[in-house]
Amino acid sequence: MGLLQTALSTIYPPRCIGCGDIVDSDFGLCGTCWAGTAFVGGTTCDSCGVPLPGQVEEGPVDCDTCLNEPRPWAHGRAALAYGGVGRKLVLQLKHGDRQEIARPAAGWMQMASRDMLNDYTLIAPVPLHWTRTAKRRYNQSALLAQNFSELAGLEWCPDLLLRPKRTVSLEGKSKEERLDILVNAIRINPKRKHRIVGRSVLLVDDVMTTGATLAACTQVCCAEGAGQVCISVLARAVKET
Ligand SMILES: [Zn+2]
Ligand SMILES: [Zn+2]
Repeated sequence: MGLLQTALSTIYPPRCIGCGDIVDSDFGLCGTCWAGTAFVGGTTCDSCGVPLPGQVEEGPVDCDTCLNEPRPWAHGRAALAYGGVGRKLVLQLKHGDRQEIARPAAGWMQMASRDMLNDYTLIAPVPLHWTRTAKRRYNQSALLAQNFSELAGLEWCPDLLLRPKRTVSLEGKSKEERLDILVNAIRINPKRKHRIVGRSVLLVDDVMTTGATLAACTQVCCAEGAGQVCISVLARAVKET
């Protein structure tokens, strides 16, 4: 810890990102919030990161949803299940201007995603339409991607993917409707597309619900010649339609 950090932590002691209580270490959760956060561990779906019940003998396994509807990406991981304190953190990062949540959250995502990374993985956020970014002042997925890249020591590309078309919310829409909405909504940035050719790409988002947006982003990257595309999300919401 540098001198400035030491001085700052004396004036502003580190606080729990869940409840604001003073905690011992930087960027952490207090014991109560830690216990209320559903970190994903044990056996998980290799495609979407959802925790799977029971023990699996060997090799990667997929959940029923991913088996029935195979994902276009190679592997996927989630740090948290969307609920309890985890849900609160996601919502505060997204709508509450609590940008300081991104650092520890990205650390949890990096832990969960370790086995999907190589030295040349390029990290890219799921894009927001610019009017939404303007309203919230930042793209929470880009914040997570930036912190992830700093912690992992990997390159990132904040504007690899663009969202020129403003789309309506996908919530409550059928699979067909979602696909319809997302067609052409996500584009590769022509100035950046050379960076992904033959290269592993890790797409970062805050929450995965149906995975429709991540699927559209993956398809765009694959169409532009990316190598393996994987996804890493802060929280996996289990709410399939
Ligand atoms: Zn707390
Ligand atoms: Zn799955």
